[in-house]
Amino acid sequence: ALYNSKTTSRGRTTVYSAEHEARIRSERAIENALQNADLAKEFEIYFQPVISLPEREVVGFEALARWDSPVLNRVPPDRFIPIAERTGMIHRLTVHLFERAVEQINGLPGSLSLSFNLSAHDVTSAETVAALLDIIRLKKIDPRRIMFEITETSVIGSYEAAETCLKTLRAAGVKLALDDFGTGYSSLGYLHRLPIDCVKIDRSFVSGIADPVAIGVVNSIVNLCRSMQILCVVEGVEKPDQLEVLEALQCHLVQGFLFGRPQPYETVAASALEAGTV
Ligand code: C2E
Ligand code: CA
Ligand code: CA
Ligand code: CA
Repeated sequence: ALYNSKTTSRGRTTVYSAEHEARIRSERAIENALQNADLAKEFEIYFQPVISLPEREVVGFEALARWDSPVLNRVPPDRFIPIAERTGMIHRLTVHLFERAVEQINGLPGSLSLSFNLSAHDVTSAETVAALLDIIRLKKIDPRRIMFEITETSVIGSYEAAETCLKTLRAAGVKLALDDFGTGYSSLGYLHRLPIDCVKIDRSFVSGIADPVAIGVVNSIVNLCRSMQILCVVEGVEKPDQLEVLEALQCHLVQGFLFGRPQPYETVAASALEAGTV
């Protein structure tokens, strides 16, 4: 047994350092590719529908960044966003993506909203916030159609700066959503400290929704939002039985593969026009 555990532990050490090295190499590769990226050519925005219940109508879209690098092919946002933050490129990237998202959503019926993810660096940068508000003015979009999504982790650490930025955004008429709700340390604490219009319940609660505890949690958050007059979106709805549970809990807004995967603008535009929502 002793001999075995020795080899195992040595084996693991080797595997670990090789993995670690590979990870560093891939981070460097992403960093380089990102630094040299042609944002207009390599990046695209995919739109995922947000659905209202009980009508089951599309009320808006969440913009999700897609990067198709000529060197690295598809790199998921969970990988490149942290690197863009670390290298300081996030400012340029956010502003670029937001401008395109607004241009595209402007081509859709005016009742449809745009949800756009902001990173920690965005919500603590007065410069980024000013640039986002400039775009709203220049592109002449009704700010009430826009919802910026932030996570709790993005305000931890620089709470004061974030609070100032969020208040500036909200004063301009845009809405704010607390994303990945329920996954952080003190989501409830931020709910009344920050000027929040909407909560997005993390999809981990929905995947376990056969479990009475998960149902109870979702039910509590939905009721809490209702009593605070905050909107509530349940994310990650994939199956009809999950939808049934959420309908019984009287959830008003849902999102997930059941209703639509994130898709390119052309696809959502075609179906929005076809649906006759114009
Ligand atoms: P998020 O904001 O929580 O976005 C939801 C993620 O869940 C998206 O992954 C979406 O494709 C995925 N999703 C939606 N419905 C379902 C479902 O029913 N089942 C499952 N399994 N997944 C579903 P994606 O597009 O890979 O984005 C990952 C994260 O990257 C986002 O999480 C967001 O935090 C970040 N991100 C994406 N685009 C941007 C961006 O433009 N700016 C910033 N700062 N972050 C972004
Ligand atoms: Ca989001
Ligand atoms: Ca989320
Ligand atoms: Ca997330």
